[in-house]
Amino acid sequence: MKVPMLDLVGEYRELRAEIEPAVGRVLASGHYILGQEVARLEAEVARYVGVPHAVAVASGTDALILGLRAAGIGSGDEVVTPAFTFIAAAEAITHVGARPVFADIDPLTYNMDPASLEAALTPGTRAVIAVHLFGQSAEIAEIRAICKDRRLVLIEDCAQAIGADYDGVRVGGWGALGCFSFYPTKNLGACGDGGLVTTRDAALAERLRMLRHHGSRVAYQHEIVGYNSRLDELQAAILLTKVAHLDRFNAARRAHAAAYRKALTGAPIGLPREHGRGTHVYHVYCVRAARRDAVREALAARGIASGIYYPIPLHKQAAYEREFGNVQLPHSEQAAREVLALPIYPQLDEARIGLVCEAVRSAL
Ligand SMILES: *Cc1c(COP(=O)(O)O)cnc(C)c1O
Repeated sequence: MKVPMLDLVGEYRELRAEIEPAVGRVLASGHYILGQEVARLEAEVARYVGVPHAVAVASGTDALILGLRAAGIGSGDEVVTPAFTFIAAAEAITHVGARPVFADIDPLTYNMDPASLEAALTPGTRAVIAVHLFGQSAEIAEIRAICKDRRLVLIEDCAQAIGADYDGVRVGGWGALGCFSFYPTKNLGACGDGGLVTTRDAALAERLRMLRHHGSRVAYQHEIVGYNSRLDELQAAILLTKVAHLDRFNAARRAHAAAYRKALTGAPIGLPREHGRGTHVYHVYCVRAARRDAVREALAARGIASGIYYPIPLHKQAAYEREFGNVQLPHSEQAAREVLALPIYPQLDEARIGLVCEAVRSAL
């Protein structure tokens, strides 16, 4: 029996009776861009996150770029973000003309260490992009307090954590802006690219709506220089069918994580740590081991997939090394050497979790 990292086809099969009519409805409508499906999805996600506004865009990366632009971040500004994450937030900062400044992580949760954030602040800092990595919220209350103190714009990268919360407030509801991705592998995934920005600020929402549509509110009147960054109606219709199952799917991920914990407790391996302030939605089930590569090979030999998120911290990536290669962020660097993601997806079952755990134990 093979164990893949995820099972997108299995999810499609399970929801086929809802997805196919939704797709057919859009195809037959002749309305493919910025119609009622996108408007309904925005309303659903805003309600789900607990904020008044949501603006759908073409990807999670665009959500970050347009979010920074809407907040007025640009040339000469510094934006602090963690070094141990996917590169999109750093790219977004660079693309708007600002400068990323990398902070280190808490080695137990892999999220940005608020003390490292504070140490990274300078008079040039204008914003912070906090990432809720692997499905668990960052220490967002403390981070928000730091931002409030210094009048910094707080942007949340929620790409991996839709449905997670901190002190009962869902991610995307803490910062000025919450940026989500609907990349197919995310906990709420489209059948293509997609993204969305949440906000409590009506003026920011209005600016985002203009930015995604060529800086325009009225056809062919362009008030600002914008982008073409719209979510299409087909993706919105598919996502609408899936939103209704999101809590169930996230609960299944949590149950699988509990099964992994039970079976791996006592093994010489680092298990994911929950900070206890909110729900972890386990986008990634990340363990750590000094002999990570040997464990990965042993799993592969038994037909069990695994992943490394992330093998190189951002300050050591070729794209950023020239500017940041000498920066030392020891917890990010050590995590990059030791992390290993085990398969987790809603359709995973006990038999497969058993196989994975047996293989991990014997490899150790
Ligand atoms: C997936 C992801 C993104 C980017 O989303 P896209 O929709 O692929 O552009 C940004 N940040 C994090 C942490 C992600 O995991």
